[in-house]
Amino acid sequence: MPDHAPPAHIVVVGAGQAGAALVAKLRASGYGGRLTLIGEEAAPPYQRPPLSKAYLLGEIDEERLWLRSDSFWQEHDITLKLGARVLALNAKAKTVTLAGEVLSYDELVLATGAEPRRLPAAIGGDLAGVYPLRSLADIARMRAEFQPGRRLVVVGGGYIGLEAAAVARKIGLSVTVVEAAPRILGRVAAAETADYFRALHHAHGVRIIEGVGVARLAGTGRVEAVVLEDGREIAADFVVAGVGITPQAPLPKARGWPSRTASGPMRAGAALGPISGRRAIAPPSRSMGAGAAGIGRPCDRSRRAGRGQPAWRGAGLSRETVVLVGSIRLQTADRGAQYRL
Ligand SMILES: Cc1cc2nc3c(=O)[nH]c(=O)nc-3n(C[C@H](O)[C@H](O)[C@H](O)COP(=O)(O)OP(=O)(O)OC[C@H]3O[C@@H](n4cnc5c(N)ncnc54)[C@H](O)[C@@H]3O)c2cc1C
Repeated sequence: MPDHAPPAHIVVVGAGQAGAALVAKLRASGYGGRLTLIGEEAAPPYQRPPLSKAYLLGEIDEERLWLRSDSFWQEHDITLKLGARVLALNAKAKTVTLAGEVLSYDELVLATGAEPRRLPAAIGGDLAGVYPLRSLADIARMRAEFQPGRRLVVVGGGYIGLEAAAVARKIGLSVTVVEAAPRILGRVAAAETADYFRALHHAHGVRIIEGVGVARLAGTGRVEAVVLEDGREIAADFVVAGVGITPQAPLPKARGWPSRTASGPMRAGAALGPISGRRAIAPPSRSMGAGAAGIGRPCDRSRRAGRGQPAWRGAGLSRETVVLVGSIRLQTADRGAQYRL
């Protein structure tokens, strides 16, 4: 294939906001080849932010989370493979392996995002009644716990933890937030902002304990209490852990993983970075979204500079961004929405 010819088949792994926005942008930019978006989760691409807000509160239903209507994918001839985990990739042969299927590609983009940090099993993190908050499936698992009068301990005083705490209070639970750092929102907001949210939560009856870590979760089979490092014990009917994210681990079997080059065998998402004039000044990358290791650091909320910014800006990207997928050049503008390329 000559260098300027568009790839015949682009496969995007990870059907989160980044992956979904990329395939939509490819079509909107006139890409007419075969386009496949593969996502491990069963739900069609959806927004996560309402999970800890209106959706957890029960104010909106699942379809309101979907990034695109059901018909969009078919109308734009995008093959959605949902509930399908990519188990391995072979960059030399240009194939990805799913359960029961090997798929060939000409260009591959990894938009595999992030996974929630979990409280270690060694301190009771694997007890029943302990939940991460990242996905629709997590909410489905924990929703029945949100009943008036029950006792919730939220571990982690970041935005997600505080949002879950606010929702729980609104429903009528008794809520304690435990933050190991000296103050809540320590990684994501200024002290004044933290003061504001602390006061707001106090005013609504949320108890916040700062500067003390969790020693362990106590219970037989199911969590019954959170034991703090200073010896205090807080009774809990259930626990929500909002303790950050880590980029998705690399695919278990990744053969021929290229070096950091835009012309390597797997160069999809090749240059993802701020541009100055027509020159891409960021190092080449081969992944995008919350797990974009190639651009230096994950760009999810745990590292973002500020609330309400599009997540890709937190990755060091600026007002105009260029994404190269093979020979296709997509230019993006900062319109203040995540991954709206
Ligand atoms: C509860 C919550 C509230 C949030 N609130 C806000 C907010 O208010 N404002 C804000 O800016 N940001 C918020 N965020 C962060 C925002 O949602 C993320 O930045 C965004 O979801 C990242 O999108 P992504 O597509 O890069 O990654 P992800 O959303 O992580 O999507 C990656 C997808 O790839 C899939 N995947 C991974 N590996 C494989 C594989 N091997 N095969 C197939 N599929 C795979 C995953 O299952 C996942 O669906 C919030 C996040 C959460 C969890």
